[in-house]
Amino acid sequence: MTQEPRDLIIRTQRAFLITHVDPDGDAIGSALALAHALRKMGKKCSLACADPIPGALSFLPRVREFGTPEITNEDLIIAVDVSDPNRFGKAYEHVPSLNIPILNIDHHVTNTLFGTHNVVRTGAAATAEIVFDLLQDWGLPLDSLLATYLLTGIVTDTRSFSTSSTTPRILDIAAQLMRAGASLTEITENVFNRRGLATLRLWGKVLDQTQLDGQLVWSINTLDMQSQCRARSDDGDGVVNLLATAHEAQAAIVFKESGTGQIEISIRSRPGVDISPIAVYFGGGGHPQAAGTALRGKLEQVIPKVLTKAREVLNSRQDRQG
Ligand code: 5GP
Ligand code: MN
Repeated sequence: MTQEPRDLIIRTQRAFLITHVDPDGDAIGSALALAHALRKMGKKCSLACADPIPGALSFLPRVREFGTPEITNEDLIIAVDVSDPNRFGKAYEHVPSLNIPILNIDHHVTNTLFGTHNVVRTGAAATAEIVFDLLQDWGLPLDSLLATYLLTGIVTDTRSFSTSSTTPRILDIAAQLMRAGASLTEITENVFNRRGLATLRLWGKVLDQTQLDGQLVWSINTLDMQSQCRARSDDGDGVVNLLATAHEAQAAIVFKESGTGQIEISIRSRPGVDISPIAVYFGGGGHPQAAGTALRGKLEQVIPKVLTKAREVLNSRQDRQG
């Protein structure tokens, strides 16, 4: 790790930690771990996220500290797992123009290096892996809370150690985190294995609408389907991973009506199939196997545009291989 981020951390008195909209376990776990570590070093921290925290992460101690605080007298902004400033969300769109240093800690291939200081490692399986290295660098010993936060980030972003980003190193780190007191079972149960019936019914509706289009399966998650199941908007978010198990396809897309006039698009693929260019083309981002974006318009306008681009990306891959 370079000297600069370390000096920045040593000098800071009050850090403002901010993660991305529509937060996941890596975003929340990595930010909580950093806040806990900085407090151990005697620093003050606030935790910000423009969107509510998903219920599946409510088992994490102190997760309720996240809110939408104002930036007042902080001397450092730490962006955690944020690939580009749009992902700060509307409440924090002014962040890049503030005259405060920004330490950008992230692992997305689509990171725009927007920080005044950037610790961006696209080879890392999760931002939590980078935070783990930073803590080692700062000589901070692990405790069970740090271990739980970091393992949550790793388990989430590797989808339980199954994505192609899962390396021997990340398994070594996970083992160290378990030895330090993190429970892999508790994390996996909370993050992947607990769903309300409303969620399962909504997933059923989404799966029922699945269409096969060449190497792609896709489906919709409409406001109507959500209300028929009495489901919350984010209840359908994991179904794309299930859709992506269709052995007839290389990739899966779910188009979700958000109620704000936007269609949220979640894309997944098999190991070795990079679908991030589809999201990037439409102003989004993500990882080779999991990416997303949001587009203004109605389903019937958005779907054909995205499918056309998806076919192009998947076919060009076939051309290269053939
Ligand atoms: P999900 O499908 O779970 O919402 O997102 C999958 C991945 O794509 C995550 O790594 C997330 O950070 C990224 N992603 C989703 N939506 C957007 C977006 O609108 N913009 C960017 N830059 N990344 C996104
Ligand atoms: Mn991540």
